[in-house]
Amino acid sequence: MSSLANFVRVAIDQDTCISCGACIEVCPYDALEFDENMKARLIWEKCQDDFSCIESCPVNCIYKVEEAPEELKTEKAGWYRLGRELNEEEKKAFEEWRQKYGVKVDPVQA
Ligand code: SF4
Ligand code: SF4
Repeated sequence: MSSLANFVRVAIDQDTCISCGACIEVCPYDALEFDENMKARLIWEKCQDDFSCIESCPVNCIYKVEEAPEELKTEKAGWYRLGRELNEEEKKAFEEWRQKYGVKVDPVQA
C-alpha cells in the first residue's frame, strides 16, 4: 500500500475567493499561492491535508475535495497545479486521487 494513497487535498472556488491571502498565510506547507488573477490556487503535491486553510477562509470557499461542490471537480478549472514534475509513485497517486474523488478538471500548466 502506498503511503501516498490517502490524499484528500482541498478544492478552491476561485469565483468566490476575495483574494485576502489568509489561506496562503496559514498553510504550514506553502501549498497555496495567488495565481495571475490574485485568486488562491493549490500546489497539489505540497499539500499535507491539515486543512487549516479551510478554517481561515472568511468566505468559506475552500473545501476538502471529498466535500467540494461537483462543479469544482468537473467544470471549474484553475484551482490547482502541480508545482514540479511528479515521480512515478506520485503520478500514480495523483491519478488514483483524481479517480477516487471524480476530479475531471486538469491541473493548470504553470
Ligand atoms: S490543507 Fe493544509 S497543507 Fe493543504 S493547502 Fe490547506 S493549509 Fe495547506
Ligand atoms: S482565504 Fe479564501 S478568500 Fe482568502 S485568498 Fe484564500 S481562498 Fe481566497
